[in-house]
Amino acid sequence: MKTIIVIGAGIVGASIAHHLSRAGHTVTVIEQGEAGSQVTASSFAWLGLAKSSASAQQGDLRGSALKEWDRLRAELSEHSDAPECFEYRQFGAISWEESEDETREFVADHLAAGHSMQLLNSVETLALEPNLKAAPAAVARATNDAGVDPVALTRALLDSAKGNGATLLMHTKVTELLCVEGRVSGAQTSAGDIHAESVILAAGTASADLAASVGAAVDLVPAPCCLIRFSTEAPLLNGILSTPAVEVRQLNDTTLLAAEDVPAGFSGDPTLLVPDVLDAIHETFVDTKSVRLERATVVDRPMPRNGEPIVGPAAGTPGLYLAVAHPAIILAAAIGARVTADHAPSNGNGNGNGNGNGN
Ligand SMILES: Cc1cc2nc3c(=O)[nH]c(=O)nc-3n(C[C@H](O)[C@H](O)[C@H](O)COP(=O)(O)OP(=O)(O)OC[C@H]3O[C@@H](n4cnc5c(N)ncnc54)[C@H](O)[C@@H]3O)c2cc1C
Repeated sequence: MKTIIVIGAGIVGASIAHHLSRAGHTVTVIEQGEAGSQVTASSFAWLGLAKSSASAQQGDLRGSALKEWDRLRAELSEHSDAPECFEYRQFGAISWEESEDETREFVADHLAAGHSMQLLNSVETLALEPNLKAAPAAVARATNDAGVDPVALTRALLDSAKGNGATLLMHTKVTELLCVEGRVSGAQTSAGDIHAESVILAAGTASADLAASVGAAVDLVPAPCCLIRFSTEAPLLNGILSTPAVEVRQLNDTTLLAAEDVPAGFSGDPTLLVPDVLDAIHETFVDTKSVRLERATVVDRPMPRNGEPIVGPAAGTPGLYLAVAHPAIILAAAIGARVTADHAPSNGNGNGNGNGNGN
């Protein structure tokens, strides 16, 4: 078993800490702020097929993501009231495209791939989501899709890690990575130097600069996205809804989340994006008088340039392991399983001979 530093306590670092500590490694998590306070806090946190194409589900890590999520939920339930504590809501996701033909094709592709998908008509859709004003003749329903509270999930994973002996250093910033004879050997932090046999970089968008300091590459592209929180007196939705006009889900009975793509070059006040979303909510649902804006945030997601998860030993940088991916809530359990396999005593990869792109 190894001594391992995990830099970053977003969903990725927290899942890795859970998995590695459970496997018996000696884990230290270093986080500059609060757990899950950066991109993870602004996530829509939709799990499952998440309206991606059928072919996207075959990607590296994505192919095993849902099965691994089922395993992770069971593991977390062993020690707490999770998944209740992280608002795990599994009622499926309904969606439709601009045209009926596109929706039918989307459903057919998923069914051909064996995914949990149904084609609904408007009556069936309104029976599932009675607060909708109307539904088209063809609607896709990803029956197993779910949502979580990403910050509560991050905390549950860290609690589990702590229960398995991990050390959590919050409010501790990594200022640079330490190297001895060409091998990453630890991290210089605001609380002093910390040494370990393996260093895992799970610092989200900050990973590129930290990796560059030891000559490793994490190639990310800017990918801003907006999360809007509304308060509702009662739930508007049972599951998740994604249409050409709006993407929303109920986080809990009194909080409705909306995710909105940010126009290219947008650098303004996130609340400028709210009126269009609110109009779409009023047009989509009945009885929306009580819907009120709580807050809107725009954040940059840690998006690998080629879209593929960067999960693996850093090429040419022994001792350093990279864990940067999108969409990382969906991939969290699969990333944890991959990192654990790579750090298994029988596997030398955790020592840094790989290519860092998880392929
Ligand atoms: C609006 C929106 C909607 C989204 N919807 C979905 C969705 O539906 N499904 C999905 O799967 N994904 C979704 N995502 C993407 C998902 O939220 C991210 O992929 C995920 O949160 C990234 O997690 P992370 O742990 O890599 O990064 P972060 O949460 O940013 O965590 C990185 C951590 O590293 C810490 N850190 C950075 N530098 C240092 C340092 N020098 N020292 C110590 N600590 C450091 C940070 O403080 C931070 O806590 C969405 C994102 C957004 C913005």
